[in-house]
Amino acid sequence: MSSDVVLSIDDLSIVYHTPRGDVRATSNVSFQVQRGETIALIGESGSGKTTLSLSLIRMLPNNAAITSGQILYTRDGQTRNVLHLSNNEIRSFRWRDCAMVFQGAQNAFNPVLRIRQQFADTAAAHGERDRAWVKQRTLELFKLVRLDPQRVYESYPHELSGGMKQRALLALGVLLDPQVVILDEPTTALDILTQRAIIDVLKEMQQRLNFSIIFISHDLALAAEMADRVATMYAGEIVELAGVNDIFYRPQHPYTLGLLKSVPKLDRGHDELISIPGDPPNLITPPSGCKFHPRCQFADARCETEAPPLAEVTPGQWAACWHSDKVGAQMRAEAAGSERTHG
Ligand code: ATP
Ligand code: SF4
Repeated sequence: MSSDVVLSIDDLSIVYHTPRGDVRATSNVSFQVQRGETIALIGESGSGKTTLSLSLIRMLPNNAAITSGQILYTRDGQTRNVLHLSNNEIRSFRWRDCAMVFQGAQNAFNPVLRIRQQFADTAAAHGERDRAWVKQRTLELFKLVRLDPQRVYESYPHELSGGMKQRALLALGVLLDPQVVILDEPTTALDILTQRAIIDVLKEMQQRLNFSIIFISHDLALAAEMADRVATMYAGEIVELAGVNDIFYRPQHPYTLGLLKSVPKLDRGHDELISIPGDPPNLITPPSGCKFHPRCQFADARCETEAPPLAEVTPGQWAACWHSDKVGAQMRAEAAGSERTHG
């Protein structure tokens, strides 16, 4: 493992037991997170992004089972398998090593407790009992997220706006200096200017504190802005993994291409907006071969029977597709057509 890798997910598969059968929510997922980098997980609803993230902090619901793989976490030269940590170890791991800021975070604070109490309680619950240190760290972090430290420290949650609460929550996420922060749609439900401010704050925090971010989002524009690398997930698998520019300008997987074409662009009329035909598959009985084949414009007989492996197509760009060359050709043809129409 490279010395800069903080998290290595290897061959991770997760199922949910349900009365109708096992839902294969995550299948053979592998990727590594480098120190200080931001990886965005993108994909339609139900593609397995949340399941994957919850597994990293061992917060999967009771009906979930990990059927293969390991999650290796490295700090100060020591590597541990997260799946083998004891209950006590996992409690401390959750905030000191890997923190998750959930969707709808605005309501994450307890309305009847002052913010200072909630920071102190969280620290204590995860093994940090030095109150003076916690206070100093909280005030420093409030400054870093551009909140008025003393005022917010003494406030009740209802005295803060949505954007302020979101910043306070980001500060809470890094309170115990984790190396990895998982953000689940961190700016959903905020207006566009507030979103902008949160992203700026987040980037500044990351620069100062050098943590890695795993970022879950439906919003491709946000992913493009935040991420160094992007993993596209489909039906529980990573189908493409690449640097942000490669993903957005030179995708190698038809599903990534489909996601990009379904995003409105200023220079493209709504009539050119194309949603991916069909629906995500049932993960109790997923399609044979490549799981995307029923919806894929490039599918042939091989795709229906043989699952393509995630392979390095160009340096640093991985795709699971038998015909990734056709994706580039289609992009180039469409770009040339669009130039003729608009130019
Ligand atoms: P979203 O963007 O909507 O949050 P997601 O990409 O995060 O979606 P997951 O929530 O991880 O996807 O869901 C992956 C699959 O697992 C889906 O088919 C979903 O229906 C199923 N699933 C999720 N949670 C459970 C559960 N507790 N029991 C059974 N199936 C579940
Ligand atoms: Fe489409 Fe075949 Fe590639 Fe799957 S392997 S994405 S079906 S072309």
